[in-house]
Amino acid sequence: MARRSRKRDARAEHVPIDVARLTRGWEHGETGPDGRRWRVRTVGGGDRSYRCPGCQQIIDPGTPHLVAWPADHLFGDEAGLDDRRHWHTPCWRRRR
Ligand SMILES: [Zn+2]
Repeated sequence: MARRSRKRDARAEHVPIDVARLTRGWEHGETGPDGRRWRVRTVGGGDRSYRCPGCQQIIDPGTPHLVAWPADHLFGDEAGLDDRRHWHTPCWRRRR
């Protein structure tokens, strides 16, 4: 029996464009699965540790991650910024 070469489907490994932007460190807006608008910014890691809302684990100081806050906050952008959350980048992606 002839062996068939396994073809890899490049499209199956396609990375959505917004994720590519995240990894390049852009700040951008995106709409979550619940229809809310978010501002998302990647950060290189600070001198504090944060708790990721996705996995409830600590993001260690100096770990690159992202910050997301609601863009449609009831009390405006300032209040939205106060509401920002620090996420592991993979946790933010998995939440979608
Ligand atoms: Zn996490």
